[in-house]
Amino acid sequence: MTDVDNFHLINDYWGYEMGTNILNFILKKLELFPQTLFVNRYHSDIFVGIIDITGQDPAVVREKISAYHKQAIREVLESYPLNYMTLNTGVYYLNDTDTPTEEVISHANIARRRAKETSTCVFEYNAELSSTEQKRAETIHSFQNALAKKEFQIYFQPKISGKTQEIASAEVLVRWLREDGTLWFPDSFLPILEETGEIESLDYYVYNAAFQWLADRRENGLPLLPLSLNVSPIHFRKIDTFTQRITQLLDHYQIPSKYLVFEITETTYIHNIDAVNQMIRFFHDRNIRISMDDFGSGYSSLNSLKDILFDEVKIDKHFLSAGLSEKGKIVLEEMFHLLKRTDKWIVCEGVETKEMVDFLIAEGCDELQGFYYYKPMEQKKFEELIA
Ligand code: C2E
Ligand code: CA
Ligand code: CA
Repeated sequence: MTDVDNFHLINDYWGYEMGTNILNFILKKLELFPQTLFVNRYHSDIFVGIIDITGQDPAVVREKISAYHKQAIREVLESYPLNYMTLNTGVYYLNDTDTPTEEVISHANIARRRAKETSTCVFEYNAELSSTEQKRAETIHSFQNALAKKEFQIYFQPKISGKTQEIASAEVLVRWLREDGTLWFPDSFLPILEETGEIESLDYYVYNAAFQWLADRRENGLPLLPLSLNVSPIHFRKIDTFTQRITQLLDHYQIPSKYLVFEITETTYIHNIDAVNQMIRFFHDRNIRISMDDFGSGYSSLNSLKDILFDEVKIDKHFLSAGLSEKGKIVLEEMFHLLKRTDKWIVCEGVETKEMVDFLIAEGCDELQGFYYYKPMEQKKFEELIA
């Protein structure tokens, strides 16, 4: 399957008629590819073809397709007033002619989409691609049901006070405990839910579970401690809905504001500065603190530090992940200095060794989070820990 990148731009800019002529031109070119048994427009700017490569080396075929792309593009550019065009092809090698047509098309299509995403002009379908796609499909198709069945659980990762070395608060992290008993980590499904937009309802589910947990403890006369909750970028496109939902939670559960921290990543902030600031004002009106998550992982916000409304800054775990070099220490020291002078509460995540702990505490880190102390744990374990 082959398609033209951003074909709608050609239509928009050069008109529909020219667009159609170009597509017909490409179709003619594809028909002329050696050993082509069949080729046609599949829909819009996507073509489907069958090539007989019996006895040929797939690597050689791939090279041929790639070279043919270049030739076809050159001819289009020579014949039409365009300056730029790219083609993407997904290839599926059909060994067994009994394979259902739907499956063949679907595999070739998946490979074509991957060619587009990775900007490689020819991409071959493979088993790994198949398992990624399967996981995607599984996630998308089972999500709503899983949410209704409460398959999502909140885990807690303690944050330790730099001053007292005691548990000061915890970050709430979601896990998906699937029907078949497997436990899925957020990095494997959140990006997919982010794409589909369904992360929005998952976040509300997590907030609800966290508020409920705090309310239950209060009900039972147990001590509370602050929880940090992650805010996905999607909410900045729907701030009114977000603030309404949070207001409902606050009204319903009546949790004192000092027990809540919302984490917004630096990257989200950089991409939505006005919207994030608007949201921070909403939280500040309610005395709720906001943390800048993964600080230092996006492009530098040093200049914007002076305007940042954040109360807390959470230094990205990658500052510590490679261990502590002398230069790494200098960078952290200066960062701390700057953050202290702008009155930020400093949290470090990804703390894994005693050496890191000693250094961070000496430098005045307010809270530490990481495997050196605890991994994220299920609710029951966390309750036992703080009992
Ligand atoms: P994050 O917000 O940066 O969360 C910290 C992640 O670092 C967690 O991974 C945690 O297990 C891991 N971590 C903690 N200590 C250490 C350490 O010492 N070393 C190393 N190597 N890693 C450590 P987790 O739980 O897999 O979460 C991954 C990401 O998924 C989170 O990164 C966050 O962006 C997102 N996420 C998790 N739960 C939620 C949620 O409920 N809502 C939203 N919107 N995002 C979530
Ligand atoms: Ca976080
Ligand atoms: Ca983080």
